[in-house]
Amino acid sequence: MLLHLSTWAEIEAYLERSRTVVIPIGSNEQHGPTGLLGTDWLCPEIIAHEAQKEADILVAPTFNIGMAQHHLDFPGTIALRPSTFMAAIGDWARSLAHHGFTRLYFLNGHGGNVATIEAAFSELYAEASFAARPRGFALKLKNWWDLKGVFKLAHQQFPAGHGSHATPSEIAVTQWAYPDAIKAANYAPQIAPTGPIREASDFRARFPDGRMGSDPGLATPEKGAELVRLAVAGLIEEVRAFGAESGVSR
Ligand SMILES: [Zn+2]
Repeated sequence: MLLHLSTWAEIEAYLERSRTVVIPIGSNEQHGPTGLLGTDWLCPEIIAHEAQKEADILVAPTFNIGMAQHHLDFPGTIALRPSTFMAAIGDWARSLAHHGFTRLYFLNGHGGNVATIEAAFSELYAEASFAARPRGFALKLKNWWDLKGVFKLAHQQFPAGHGSHATPSEIAVTQWAYPDAIKAANYAPQIAPTGPIREASDFRARFPDGRMGSDPGLATPEKGAELVRLAVAGLIEEVRAFGAESGVSR
């Protein structure tokens, strides 16, 4: 069930049977010469949208802008600073909590978001603690590649050249979902360099075409299909377990 294609009355009815909502979260940032700018928000969205076709899961609109300051020297990147990102996550979560959602599951597609999402969670828990609210509000963060078996499959599919940015696994997932948007380029070098992540000008100097340690030329829609299938199964299992956690209301 997709929140943005539902009515308020349908959400009210859903809340009678579940208090769990899945929020795809990512970043809109350059992904090398062939990766889509939306890669990091498309991957969790694709997986969550597939999962809700197979199970009674509610998926919120995708939070599609995140921590991407280091990619700003590449056109098309849109970034939030950490304080803005935390404030927005906070109000997004408070809005859902206002309706009675007590289990918010963030499915993340961008490693650079993790520290700030966790900090936003700490703020929300601190609010609950200082207000002495009763037990029962839970936040969970999961990277899609950390869903059961997915990281292992990605490294079996791409034993060399997986890398850490514009990876063939994330690009394969978008290729499966958007075959009309598949791009091609000559990669030089075939496997991109690795190094630290600092500010935008340093990033573009170190990684001139935007890739980090990866060979996106290995991506295929078929490999993307395998990754999506496994991730969907993992997500459904995790969301069920999260919903059934003891001590969390309903
Ligand atoms: Zn990415």
